[in-house]
Amino acid sequence: MVIGNKISSSPAIINTPFGRKSPRQAIALISDHGDPAAEIGREEAGGQNVYVRQVGEALAKLGWQVDMFTRKVRPDDAAIVQHSPYCRTIRLVAGPEEFVSRDALLEHMPAFVAAFQKFQAKEGLNYPLIHTNYWLSAWAGLQLKQQTNVQLVHTYHSLGAIKYQTVEAPASAKARLLVEKEILEQAQCVVATSPQEEEALRQLVSLGGHVQVIPCGTNLQTFRAIPRADARAKLGISAMEKIVLYVGRFDPRKGIETLVRGFAKVVESSAEPVRLMIVGGSEPGQSDGIERDRIGALVEELGIEDSVTFAGRQGHDALPVYYTAADVCVIPSHYEPFGLVAIEAMACGTPVVASDVGGLKFTVLPEETGLLVPPQDVDAFAGAIGRVLGDELWAKKMRKRASERVQQNFSWGSVAVQLSDLYRRLLAQSLSDELLVAPAKTIAYSASGAVAMANRTKVS
Ligand code: UDP
Repeated sequence: MVIGNKISSSPAIINTPFGRKSPRQAIALISDHGDPAAEIGREEAGGQNVYVRQVGEALAKLGWQVDMFTRKVRPDDAAIVQHSPYCRTIRLVAGPEEFVSRDALLEHMPAFVAAFQKFQAKEGLNYPLIHTNYWLSAWAGLQLKQQTNVQLVHTYHSLGAIKYQTVEAPASAKARLLVEKEILEQAQCVVATSPQEEEALRQLVSLGGHVQVIPCGTNLQTFRAIPRADARAKLGISAMEKIVLYVGRFDPRKGIETLVRGFAKVVESSAEPVRLMIVGGSEPGQSDGIERDRIGALVEELGIEDSVTFAGRQGHDALPVYYTAADVCVIPSHYEPFGLVAIEAMACGTPVVASDVGGLKFTVLPEETGLLVPPQDVDAFAGAIGRVLGDELWAKKMRKRASERVQQNFSWGSVAVQLSDLYRRLLAQSLSDELLVAPAKTIAYSASGAVAMANRTKVS
């Protein structure tokens, strides 16, 4: 039975950290490499980690017991992190307890599936619905679906078919493209985070399967405009200086090089002092260090080191100060399935100049909340940044419109309500299907079967 958005049907009995039994329906979110409990902004930790964590916590508030599964990458990391009474991250040991790049993770996925099954058995759980994130988790979800009668929901976060148009395809590309097609055709529902993603799925992946558009969200309590003078004072920025901001990971597909080259042109042509603040990145020695060093070298080569600040990784609690202090936030990605940074910046009332790609076409309204320009076009970025910096009256209008747009359309609360409705519909559907046909036999987990599938999807 469903009351509003609260769930009370077929509940699992869960032990909470307080020793109580929970009558809540347990569901699993799988995010193999995107640890929902990780520090965001370092190595490969970015939007996917934020999405799973925020969706998980918001779903728990709506009445679900949410278990979020990821791969353990450090021996010292806790096996279970309890975020709230009904929402936890569970780190499964699958392969070495160290960072492994996504391109090399497939071989550890059979062990991940086995660890997931073991955890379920140990806790006496049987998740009737699993929401997978990224293609590696989709691979795990498809395995689990073969073995039990589970409702499968999937969010891509990134599509190989688009990504490989701009970067060299790694060895895992063939397997990825196969899994991305299979999950679309076999999952009960795929969640596209923008109409643009839905269109790309239909054009590039498959016409089969069900797709529902549910956008990403942002935390409106955290990301909101604060007085600009206060934000600038906190960062030690003078009122005279114009600030161009980048927030995100150091990854070549993020297009930081385009921004830096464009910014050098803005410095050249601007009569006022301008500064580029680059937020994000790990400590030296981490996997994203190569790109960080490359960008640092480019800044020196262009002779703009006095106008560029590398602010390092900042938590979500600190980011609103950066967004509010900035005159414009730039997202120069070659490809961006959604782009959380765009809505975070806009929620703080900062206009966005972004590449005219993917989800950015959906979130940024040209001339109203920012500008869209062709990706990798240095002159176009320089021109668009210059336009926003040079017209204070227009920028003021955009600041207001930007924060309204996010408040009206992109809160995690509303994302969770839409996901919750979808889950309830799928679970209700599977219950009525079960009443019509003999119950599906639960097949015991077979590690050898999983390995065989992994091998089948490996590139020869
Ligand atoms: N982020 C952060 N601290 C940093 C850099 C980035 O918290 O130093 C967060 C940022 O606020 C956003 C996420 O990382 O929530 C990046 O998500 P987005 O969708 O923009 O890009 P992705 O990382 O998924 O490519």
